[in-house]
Amino acid sequence: KGLMLNIHPSLLPAFPGLDPQKRAIEHGVRLSGCTVHFVDEGTDTGPIILQRAVPVMESDTTEDLSARIQAEEHRILPYAVDLLTSDRLSITGRQVHVRPGTTSFPDEEARLSPHHFPVLLATSNEHKVEEIREILKGLPVRFLTLADFPDFTMPAEDADTFLGNAKIKARLWAIRSKCWVLADDSGLVVDGLNGRPGVHSSRYAPTDKERVSKLLKELEGVESAKRTARFVCSAVLRSPNGDLEFHTEGTLEGRIAGSPGGDHGFGYDPLFLPEGHGDARLAELGPEIKNRISHRARAFFAMREHLERLASGQLRVGA
Ligand code: IMP
Repeated sequence: KGLMLNIHPSLLPAFPGLDPQKRAIEHGVRLSGCTVHFVDEGTDTGPIILQRAVPVMESDTTEDLSARIQAEEHRILPYAVDLLTSDRLSITGRQVHVRPGTTSFPDEEARLSPHHFPVLLATSNEHKVEEIREILKGLPVRFLTLADFPDFTMPAEDADTFLGNAKIKARLWAIRSKCWVLADDSGLVVDGLNGRPGVHSSRYAPTDKERVSKLLKELEGVESAKRTARFVCSAVLRSPNGDLEFHTEGTLEGRIAGSPGGDHGFGYDPLFLPEGHGDARLAELGPEIKNRISHRARAFFAMREHLERLASGQLRVGA
């Protein structure tokens, strides 16, 4: 399993089994093609690695269509073998992921996913991954996560600024993965606590619940007007060898509530009253609003133009 490939002359799951070209013509489809997939117990049912479409002409005989499909088969089978033997394929359920890497088939590589430039999101916080995907949706970028690199470990985030920590993460993951990396560092800056927890937001206490309790305790007796705070997010986009690096930052101003509330989001969201939303906590506003106004949304929206240029080939890809 995971080592045996099959090539089939149809766009699976259409027309598995025998005589797919003949059946495609009889069925009257306008497009057919070929599929390279991993072999599983079924007939032509395994996870799909590559597919190519070809048109079906009204005048086509089975031989005409077969020949047109075969020209594509001759391209994608060697390329699929190249991907497999250079250990670039991984399977989760039915999804086959192609890791970035080098290839002897650059033309095929370009056709693999020309609109899906791979960028590694260097965060192990699933909430953040979900928010960033939502904020950056629609871009021609395929986001990899640390789940695609299970052997990697987190670096020590010991800089004294958000930007410094984001750079540490971007640098480490870019060097290891040889991919473009998008990293961020974020936290909550509370004015009445001289900026704490700040860059120590995730280490302020062991769990989200304890962090919330500790913050409330530290602010005990501080009146509402003096409980001003802001979320800050620094984002860094870095090329594999570091010859290009872009920085953006976003903030969300607000106040710290007197008690926690709401079930959305993560971290300090249950205590944060964002400016302009009355007495609603960030955790009560829900993802749609949060992903429009948050520090992360602002930092990552500002990254969009760089990512668009990267995906369209306007930025040189560092080696
Ligand atoms: P980082 O992973 O080092 O950036 O840690 C950031 C920490 O800051 C998180 O673990 C949270 O405690 C807090 N934080 C950052 N962004 C948010 C947010 O959007 N909502 C709530 N807490 C946040």
